[in-house]
Amino acid sequence: RQRRPVDVAALAKGVREGSRSLLARAITLVESNRPDHRVAAQELLLELLPHAGGAVRVGISGVPGVGKSTFIEALGTRLTGDGHRVAVLAVDPSSTRTRGSILGDKTRMAKLAVDENAFVRPSPSAGTLGGVARATRETIVLMEAAGYDAVLVETVGVGQSEVTVAGMVDTFLLLTIARTGDQLQGIKKGILELADVVAVNKADGNHERDAKVAARELSGALRLMTPTHESWRPPVLPCSAQTGMGLDEVWSAVREHRSTLESDGSLGRRRADQQVEWMWAMVRDQLMDRLQAGAKDTIGELEHGVRNGDETPTRAAARLLDTLGLPDQR
Ligand code: GDP
Repeated sequence: RQRRPVDVAALAKGVREGSRSLLARAITLVESNRPDHRVAAQELLLELLPHAGGAVRVGISGVPGVGKSTFIEALGTRLTGDGHRVAVLAVDPSSTRTRGSILGDKTRMAKLAVDENAFVRPSPSAGTLGGVARATRETIVLMEAAGYDAVLVETVGVGQSEVTVAGMVDTFLLLTIARTGDQLQGIKKGILELADVVAVNKADGNHERDAKVAARELSGALRLMTPTHESWRPPVLPCSAQTGMGLDEVWSAVREHRSTLESDGSLGRRRADQQVEWMWAMVRDQLMDRLQAGAKDTIGELEHGVRNGDETPTRAAARLLDTLGLPDQR
């Protein structure tokens, strides 16, 4: 099969000039696992990195049904109405199993999907969370180089995906619905700890009062937790994605959080730390890939030995890593 080389320069130019079709091709390239595509994608990213970094990066999380897509559609439409260019990305590691992502699905955001100032991209189905996260991080670079100034990364409360998304955005927004008293336990503490802003959605009709009470209670609960930043207390705001009530306040809180990070230089540090953490995540991924591809026979033998009890797991691990040829200087 003939493999046509990727014209990286043309792609980079097209992305920067705002061509939607070339941007879509560039995203497909960074999502690809083909080795020659991986090389071309990294060249493309190197060319575009100097033009990236300009967006407000926001992670949006919440359990299915909480109203994420309704919220993103309403917020995104407001933002494009105010002259912003909005990218909607998704991190959904379950998409490989279900063969199609439930997140970032264009049919869930009908207006944004046809808005010329918005770009909605479903979760890549690249396999592992690490693979999906890599593609999404790289897509953020592309979107920023293309001039999108608000990047919204959607995720569900599955496994580690929130932690992963929190590691690629400036502000992490948790969407929830009215819960009070014992029900507060239903919100995973680990997720609350990640939240920079919390929105209690569906504060409309008969539920408006409940949502406001819940917001106050949750705010009290949050006060007992370690803040994500020393001079930032995560606000808890009622809103309705359906009526639009409170959406401006939620967005203001996101902007305020960003300003707080900017004012003491922690935005730059946070992003730099995220880049280094990303590098290590890539090391872990590539290490496993290389071992699995390059030491198939040894792996077979060692697994057999460990199963039979002829070899200890610890010694087998060391022997496997020895195949990489690095001196063991521990
Ligand atoms: P997701 O699974 O988190 O993306 O949730 P959806 O956006 O698909 O919303 C789930 C359901 O809740 C849908 O039937 C929405 O119409 C409804 N919904 C979303 N936001 C609101 C809201 O603010 N108020 C009310 N009453 N319903 C909402």
